[in-house]
Amino acid sequence: MSKRDYYEVLGVDRNASVEEVKKAYRKLARKYHPDVNKEEDAEAKFKEVKEAYDTLSDPQKKARYDQFGHADPNQGFGGAGASGDFGGFSDIFDMFFGGGGGRRNPNAPRQGDDLQYTMTLEFKEAVFGKETEIEIPREETCGTCHGSGAKPGTKPDTCSHCGGSGQLNVEQNTPFGRVVNRRVCNYCEGTGKIIKQKCATCSGKGKVRKRKKINIKVPAGIDNGQQLRVAGQGEAGANGGPPGDLYVVFQVKPHEFFERDGEDIYCEVPLTFPQVALGDEIEVPTLTGKVKLKIPAGTQTGTSFRLRGKGVPNVHGRGQGDQHVQVRVVTPKNLTENEKELMREFAGMSGGRPEEQNDGFFDKLRRAFKGD
Ligand SMILES: [Zn+2]
Ligand SMILES: [Zn+2]
Repeated sequence: MSKRDYYEVLGVDRNASVEEVKKAYRKLARKYHPDVNKEEDAEAKFKEVKEAYDTLSDPQKKARYDQFGHADPNQGFGGAGASGDFGGFSDIFDMFFGGGGGRRNPNAPRQGDDLQYTMTLEFKEAVFGKETEIEIPREETCGTCHGSGAKPGTKPDTCSHCGGSGQLNVEQNTPFGRVVNRRVCNYCEGTGKIIKQKCATCSGKGKVRKRKKINIKVPAGIDNGQQLRVAGQGEAGANGGPPGDLYVVFQVKPHEFFERDGEDIYCEVPLTFPQVALGDEIEVPTLTGKVKLKIPAGTQTGTSFRLRGKGVPNVHGRGQGDQHVQVRVVTPKNLTENEKELMREFAGMSGGRPEEQNDGFFDKLRRAFKGD
């Protein structure tokens, strides 16, 4: 079964706001929730809706989906795309019953944010790959306080106002009775900790911005728009959580002679009329140097020759594309008087009329003019 378009699954258009996506998701999730809907395919539909929502509600995933659809080339690198795992139904109840982010423990380990870096490559660098060093600014755990934010030798205290939960319950009397609202603790700003003596290096944040050098191995055969995931090189996590990932997105510059389509290379070589009429052996540039190519006598303009294995290596190491050489016959301009005379002689000799030489093509053309 082919995978349905995520926008279609949620019934929203491509410009839908996050709010609209959320609304559509809630409606459908309620409808298909397996606890409510006992139809056979309810669970499958529920999962489909959930997957669509996970992608379209996350700006980064949405952008990737808009660019690549379900065929995100990044998934080939074993990484980031929509994962198949499905973490039960608890998160949806959080959403229905007003949990949201508010109930989360502020002290729980959190993974750091992902980073994106755009790397521009020369045509041949993308074909052959390269190893290079990049420098990215990112947040790292402060080395002085090891992330606690407290001056070395001291420790952050548990916030006495919220007891370390990061949240305060606010009771209100209303005509309907007493209502308890939860809000972020304003004494510790939701961290659950109070730092009396702040670390001088990071001024209590526990993180510092640094320019970090990272070695990147660009795989041979990478193409424009593809990305590489470098695990663990994103922003630092919080409370001992793992760091995020770094995504390197590639932009490949065009080449003045070669054109690339996937793993195949296309080029065009100009030939003179005598070369194609009489046949010739020519030299053609390829990505790995010159090769000889035999042009048989009687070659037509537009004919394509294939140089097997002279294309781009598959980025996953599976084989190599071909190079396609298309012949273009160039009509001479500025002939000398002598050359013109020879041409006339040639035209006289061959009858000068192409219909005698061209496998019925001119017959077809004539019939088309007559409207047959
Ligand atoms: Zn620090
Ligand atoms: Zn607090």
